Amino acid sequence: MANGPAGETNAPSADLKAEPVPISPGPGPVPISELPPALEHLDEVRRLAGGRPIAVFLDYDGTLTPIVDHPAKALLPEPTRRALQRLAETVPLAVVSGRDLDDVRAMVGLPGLWYGGSHGFDIAGPGGERLEMSPELLPNLDAAEGELRAALAGVPGAWVERKRFALAAHHRQVEDDRIPEVEAAVDRVAAAHPELGKTGGKRVFELRPNVPWDKGKALELLVEALGIEGADPFLVYIGDDETDEDAFRVVRDRGLGVVVRGEADARPTHARCSLSDPGEVPRLLLALAGPASARTPHEGVEPPEQGLDETP
Ligand SMILES: [Mg+2]
Repeated sequence: MANGPAGETNAPSADLKAEPVPISPGPGPVPISELPPALEHLDEVRRLAGGRPIAVFLDYDGTLTPIVDHPAKALLPEPTRRALQRLAETVPLAVVSGRDLDDVRAMVGLPGLWYGGSHGFDIAGPGGERLEMSPELLPNLDAAEGELRAALAGVPGAWVERKRFALAAHHRQVEDDRIPEVEAAVDRVAAAHPELGKTGGKRVFELRPNVPWDKGKALELLVEALGIEGADPFLVYIGDDETDEDAFRVVRDRGLGVVVRGEADARPTHARCSLSDPGEVPRLLLALAGPASARTPHEGVEPPEQGLDETP
């Protein structure tokens, strides 16, 4: 801030900058486009955390990496990997993805983290811990997989991905006017398998075990598995799409939901602040990791001036 003549510091621009935009807008969802930017409110994040131990949970696609035309191309940017590694040295950290467990673990490629695959149906810890929801439905998923592959064989660009606990019908390479055919095929298989339920994501339809399970419940199970529940942790969840809303709802009163903005900015969200794109995520992660003085410089990442646990 530039001081005016005779020590004047109350220039209008300074007043505007000092005015806090609350990241706790009250109950109920608000459109993503109306959320304050997280990186401009790190002081308020620190105030919200209030010295409680922090635990951080992240989605993968669209959050740590940009959405690309094929999931195999969604490689983790190096600055993000380094920020994750740094954060994992400081706080409990978990990546919960719609990807298959082995897939997301390979994409992130860091030890010392918890991973949740298939939207948290399949959870693995750094010490070999493994938690599986609904293993009894694996044969049903096998049968539905064959039916879905047959039903989509005639739709150019459509492809079926088998995850351990889900079937994904990807349509990001399908012509727009044929996407209804993809959805109809998924609906037919869903109708034949009432034990599976249809959900949607970015350019994908999915069939998953029709049990009350979502990323929010996975997050609650992870908090329990991490053994941090009794410490009243400040839970940070960073995600981008509608499957992350269950987790945003869980952390709404127990921490902070941060949505990475994408195509659907008008969507109502339970997140309380936003990042403009996955490229901003490392800066927030480093802020959550702690003071800059305790950090080795990360090439390509502009570190925040101070960590969340640092007194201004
Ligand atoms: Mg995502």
